[in-house]
Amino acid sequence: MTGSRAFIPPARPVIGEEEIEAAVRVLRSGMVVQGPEVAAFEQEFSALVDGRHCVAVNSGTSALQLSLLALDLKPGDEVIVPSFSFAASANSVRLAGGTPVFVDIEPGSFCIDPDAAAAAITPRTVAIMPVHLYGHPAKMEQIMALAQAHGLAVVEDAAQAHAAAVNGTPVGAFGIAGCFSFYPTKNMHSLEGGMITTGDAEFARKLRLLRNQGMEQRYQNEIVGANMRLTDVAAAIGRVQLGKLAGWTEKRRANAAYLDANLKGVAVPPVDEGAHHVYHQYTIRVQGGQDEFQAGLKERGVGSGVYYPIPIHRLKPFLNSDGSVGPWKLPETDKAAGEVISLPIMPSLTDDDLERIVAAVNEVAGA
Ligand SMILES: *Cc1c(COP(=O)(O)O)cnc(C)c1O
Repeated sequence: MTGSRAFIPPARPVIGEEEIEAAVRVLRSGMVVQGPEVAAFEQEFSALVDGRHCVAVNSGTSALQLSLLALDLKPGDEVIVPSFSFAASANSVRLAGGTPVFVDIEPGSFCIDPDAAAAAITPRTVAIMPVHLYGHPAKMEQIMALAQAHGLAVVEDAAQAHAAAVNGTPVGAFGIAGCFSFYPTKNMHSLEGGMITTGDAEFARKLRLLRNQGMEQRYQNEIVGANMRLTDVAAAIGRVQLGKLAGWTEKRRANAAYLDANLKGVAVPPVDEGAHHVYHQYTIRVQGGQDEFQAGLKERGVGSGVYYPIPIHRLKPFLNSDGSVGPWKLPETDKAAGEVISLPIMPSLTDDDLERIVAAVNEVAGA
C-alpha cells in the first residue's frame, strides 16, 4: 500500500506559466478572435505533417465533421469507421449527413483492420476513416492502397496521435484530410481546438470557407458554412504546447518503454513494425474483469481509465430503430472493450510514479 502518497491521476493536462502568459498577451491585445495567432499556429503545425496545408477549427469533432462536409456526403453515403473509438468518430459521419459502417479492429494495435475495411466496401461507400487509436498509427499503407483501388476518400482521425508516423510518414499526411484534437487531455492542447491537414489546396480553401459561414471576403458568401473558428487565445496556447510536443512525446515513449520492460502478468501494448507510437494512452489487457483491476489500482494510489467500455455500434444513437444492435459482428472490438485498461503515461510522471505504477499493476495482476 502506498497510503499517504499522492494519487497518480490517469491524465494531467498542462496549463503552464508560458501558456497563461500567451493567453494574457492575446487578451490584452484586444484581438481575440481568429487572426494572426491562428495563422501562425497553422503555419507551425504544418511542420508536423510534411508541410501540408493546415486549417484550425474549434475542436477535433469539428475537424472531422468539416472534412466530411467538404466531401459533400449525400444521404445514404457510407463511411467505414472502426467501432472501437470515441463516439466523435461516428458522430461526425452522422453530423455530415452520412452513414457510419462499423468494422472491426486488429487485436494488437487496436486500430482498424484493413481486411475488415475491404470487406465492408459497398457501392455506397465514399470514405474510410481510420482512427490512430491511443497514439498508435493505423495501417495507412494498406488503407491508402485500398482507398485508391476503390476511389474512396480517406479521412484520418488523428485526434490521439500528434506526431505518430508509419515508416517515417506522419499521420495526417496520408488521407485527403487528417483531423487532430487539442482537447486538454490530448498529447497537446489549446483548451479546446482542432486542426485539419490536407495536401490539396482546393480542399483547404473549401475547409476555410466551411469554417467561416462560407465566406473568404466578408459578406461575399460563396457556400453555406458553419462557424467553427478557433480563437486567437486558444491558438496562442496551442503554439506554446506545440513547441513542447516533441519533448513530451519522447517522455511518453520512454515511460512506455519502462512499463513494457517491467509490467508482469498483463498484456502490454504491441507496436506494429514501422509504427511510431506516441502513447496518447498506454493500454494493457487484463483478464478477469476491469472493475476489480481498476479498484485494485486505485487502492494503491494509481488512476486508470477504460477507453472505451462500450463500442460505438452498441451506443444508443447507432442502434436499430427497435433498439437492437445493427448487423455488425465485431468480435475483436467487443473483446477489447471488456479487457482494456489505460494506465497513466503522461510526461509529468516521475521515476517514483513509474515504480509505483509497476508495483501496483504487478501486485493486482498477481493477486
Ligand atoms: C478526442 C477525440 C475526438 C474529438 O476531439 P474533440 O476535440 O474532443 O472534439 C475524436 N476522435 C477521437 C478518437 C478522440 O479521441
